[in-house]
Amino acid sequence: MENLVVLGATGSIGTNTLDVVGRNAEKFYAHTLVANTNVEKMLALCVKHKPKIAHMVCEASALKLQKRLTSSSDIEVTTGVDNLIAHVTSNSIDTVMAAIVGAAGLIPTYEAVKAGKKILLANKESLVMSGRLFMEAARASGSVILPVDSEHNAIFQCLPEQVQSELGHCNLASHGISHVLLTGSGGPFLTREISTFTDITPEQACKHPNWSMGQKISVDSATMMNKGLEYIEAKWLFNTSPKQLQVVIHPQSVIHSMVQYRDGSVVAQMGNPDMRTPIAHCLSYPKRISSGVEPLDFFKVGQLSFSEPDYERFPCLKLAIEACEQGQEATTVLNAANEIAVAAFLENKIAFTDIAKVNQACMSGVVKSQLDTIGDIIELDIEARIMAQAEIDKLLKGH
Ligand code: NDP
Repeated sequence: MENLVVLGATGSIGTNTLDVVGRNAEKFYAHTLVANTNVEKMLALCVKHKPKIAHMVCEASALKLQKRLTSSSDIEVTTGVDNLIAHVTSNSIDTVMAAIVGAAGLIPTYEAVKAGKKILLANKESLVMSGRLFMEAARASGSVILPVDSEHNAIFQCLPEQVQSELGHCNLASHGISHVLLTGSGGPFLTREISTFTDITPEQACKHPNWSMGQKISVDSATMMNKGLEYIEAKWLFNTSPKQLQVVIHPQSVIHSMVQYRDGSVVAQMGNPDMRTPIAHCLSYPKRISSGVEPLDFFKVGQLSFSEPDYERFPCLKLAIEACEQGQEATTVLNAANEIAVAAFLENKIAFTDIAKVNQACMSGVVKSQLDTIGDIIELDIEARIMAQAEIDKLLKGH
């Protein structure tokens, strides 16, 4: 029996993870569930999955959950950063599903990496913020990182076994690989008239044509910042140079990404757009388990199409690719600025098109700094958030 911590248990990835765990209950046990404030959902998960520990990051929510669980329940309810770190590094734990959204996911994920746990990595922000330190820590501790993000999971599946075991420091060229092709649907605004982008509402931005996801990643998909964050994530996981990594628009989301080899072969991973496939793959790698996902029906799929990304339509994608080339300071700042800008957009404070403006303004303020520890990264993240808030305040005054 493999014992899991599910970070972000109440979210979209958390829910899908617990669905797959429930279908394979003889192999996996959701030992510890972690969320922030969603007491109702956590309560329902506790009743269904009977974890040993339910951890709420928000202290008031932990108290509420404790009251709601019946006195006969032997589930331990905890809160606080120290407890969270103790949970992910505990000897009882084999595997950590890292599915907290945003920068909040970094500390528990990084601690689990240092403790040598197997990491199912959905929280791409960890790598965007601290890629070098994160991958170095994994190498030092022997932590196995398995990419959950559907594109990176697809790339992983298309790579030779030896490369799979050398994530972070693999030499793609020496294995005959010429390119990693990162596919993206283009989101809900691939064909919308650009002049109307200022009118886009949070509801429209959160309506992804193919995937059902949390709010932040849905907005990121609409701006294609998500593909940009994935570009940075791919660089760290697969050790790609800018020449080896290419974004391809593929609106049907049937091919989840591809690897192109020197001899002309292209290996693609396909499937229905359902996160339970990559989650199941990571959970049981290298074996296969059932995930509950319907088999892909090629006759229903019909046509597959591909195009180049349009940076005028998706300036956030370009910014992320530039940040990736600039280095860790730039990607940390961009990630923080984007989180603040997306939150302001979701609160109807700024326009959809302002997200890129805030990100661009913060990026132009990036200076070289010493980023030797996770503490340095967190400090820069906080500074960038303050900078982004100031940019938003400027925009609000101008309106
Ligand atoms: P959701 O918004 O659906 O869920 C977020 C989860 O994180 C919730 O459990 C939430 O708890 C928890 N959380 C939020 N803030 C904090 C905090 N400060 N401390 C601890 N926990 C917190 O997000 P998704 O599931 O969509 O995404 C999770 C991660 O996976 C993201 O990094 C995303 O980029 C990545 N990902 C998601 C995909 C998807 O299909 N959804 C695909 C690929 C990657 P609560 O509910 O209590 O607020």
